Amino acid sequence: MMRAHPEAKIRVMRLSQYPIQTTKETPAEAEIVSHQLMLRAGLIRRLAAGLYSWLPMGLRTLRKAEAIIREEMNRAGALEVLMPVVQPAELWQESGRWGKYGPELLRLKDRHQRDFVAGPTHEEVITDIARRELKSYRQLPVNFYQVQTKFRDEIRPRFGVMRAREFIMKDAYSFHADEPSLQAGYRLMHETYTRIFTRMGLNFRAVRADSGPIGGDVSQEFHVLASSGEDAIVFSDTDGYAANIEAAEARAPEGERPAPSAPLQKVPTPGTKTIEAIVKLLGVPPQRCLKTLLVEGDGEGDAAVVALVIRGDHELNATKAQHLPGVASPLRMAGAERIHEATGAEAGFIGPVDLKCRIYADHSALAAADFICGANEKDMHLTGVNWDRDVRSYVAADLRNVVEGDPSPSGQGRLKLARGIEVGHIFQLGRKYSDALKALVLDESGREVTLLMGCYGIGVTRVVAAAIEQNHDERGIIWPEPLAPFQVVLVSLGAQKTPQVRVAADRLYGELTAAGIEVLYDDRDARPGVKFADAELLGIPHRLVVAERGLAAGRLEYRHRRESESVDFPADEALNFLRARIGC
Ligand code: ATP
Ligand code: MG
Repeated sequence: MMRAHPEAKIRVMRLSQYPIQTTKETPAEAEIVSHQLMLRAGLIRRLAAGLYSWLPMGLRTLRKAEAIIREEMNRAGALEVLMPVVQPAELWQESGRWGKYGPELLRLKDRHQRDFVAGPTHEEVITDIARRELKSYRQLPVNFYQVQTKFRDEIRPRFGVMRAREFIMKDAYSFHADEPSLQAGYRLMHETYTRIFTRMGLNFRAVRADSGPIGGDVSQEFHVLASSGEDAIVFSDTDGYAANIEAAEARAPEGERPAPSAPLQKVPTPGTKTIEAIVKLLGVPPQRCLKTLLVEGDGEGDAAVVALVIRGDHELNATKAQHLPGVASPLRMAGAERIHEATGAEAGFIGPVDLKCRIYADHSALAAADFICGANEKDMHLTGVNWDRDVRSYVAADLRNVVEGDPSPSGQGRLKLARGIEVGHIFQLGRKYSDALKALVLDESGREVTLLMGCYGIGVTRVVAAAIEQNHDERGIIWPEPLAPFQVVLVSLGAQKTPQVRVAADRLYGELTAAGIEVLYDDRDARPGVKFADAELLGIPHRLVVAERGLAAGRLEYRHRRESESVDFPADEALNFLRARIGC
């Protein structure tokens, strides 16, 4: 709990002296509820695309999230540091990411025309520190963390602070002499993150993840469950298996593929470019129609494109596809010209028969016999197509997103789908950065060994938005108590007309703040409806009302933000009553 001298807090906590206005109207630019409510409640303001200022009420919540994170990182023995936002390009050249990181990396020049980046993450800088400071296994393991601004020039900044260009991350980096130590450090961060999100009062899941541009071998994400989440996550209905759909393996169907029974035939399908249209025209189920997607390859000539074949009722998994040999990463669909060069046809009529480029076929597409696909000729499809008989050269691969009901890769049960917001990500990086930057220490026998590394991020600004996404109703935010900007909102009604109300409310305000309770005092000369609406919009967990009628009977009114009914209680028991409700 924050304790400050009560007098020092008084002015900032009186709404009559607080300059930021709330609004009733839903801002047109805000698509998701957390963004709408953060603007309406005056927590943040937009400066430019993906750039936001935090106003006093929002900052109080942000600081609470940071405080929980710091406490738990410190408890885990991590050491806080603070590294520069601006980093020299040389370090990024050394790690190889200067060339690999795309336009998300903001590159800058100083007055001497030297190259710098605005750090999207800090593996390079911390590895540089490690190679200078760490000389012996005796200094290990160690975990350095910071709470600091990151810049990523996101292609589509949106949803306010949820996907911003500038945001605050808690990033931590651990260094180890051997694998068991790295694994123990990783497990400790897994437990620490579990404690952090539990303490924040969030409903979350840890899931297996793809490592993305950070790299490395093992990684897990922490997702706040919310229907508006940008990520699809999957769970087994039977055991603890959980994964981001990007990383969830789709198992090959069991059993043998039926033998071919139909002849290969070309059929006219004018203007029929989609699976739905083919299904309608030919009266076949979508599972028997295979889609062939052409993506850019990483070579020239026949290697300039790669064909990916999946079932008509399945979706391509871009993450899996871009990891395949020969496929350009990040994944790019081939343009119309490339498609024409490679097939002589246009999108909508492509198929694997007689294609010269490399063909990857999804396991479930490979289970189909007598299937339908494009004929590589405008307005034509093939029916009765069969693998091996009609398409001889292809490679089996896992290319698709799993769907609800698929068998779990754990071997236990079936998969269920949910939406999640990624608020944390932990990685076992191994030697990716320490090899590139030559970060070595002497081991017990005096030999030089390359450091092993883990890295661990939390989107601090994003977690605030995620908390709202998960905790709100039609009237506004419902803060989980540990993140609420104030614990109590004290509302006086009719204080201008009735001096006793003002006196009693002022006294209560003094008493509660002196007891260390964080109170937002709504002492404005405004209608009750306006005050209640603001209290609900702001989502303060406990509401106390001082009004003329109740006061005359020696009573105050209390309501929790999650409850629909108020209760009244003796005015002189306010402190104890509240303490019991708050649990302090
Ligand atoms: P995403 O998949 O959402 O783009 P990421 O996997 O690129 O995120 P990491 O590199 O794992 O992100 O960064 C660690 C954490 O930082 C993420 O788990 C997320 O909570 C947060 N984060 C990443 N990008 C943003 C962003 N643009 N705005 C706000 N928070 C972000
Ligand atoms: Mg991530």
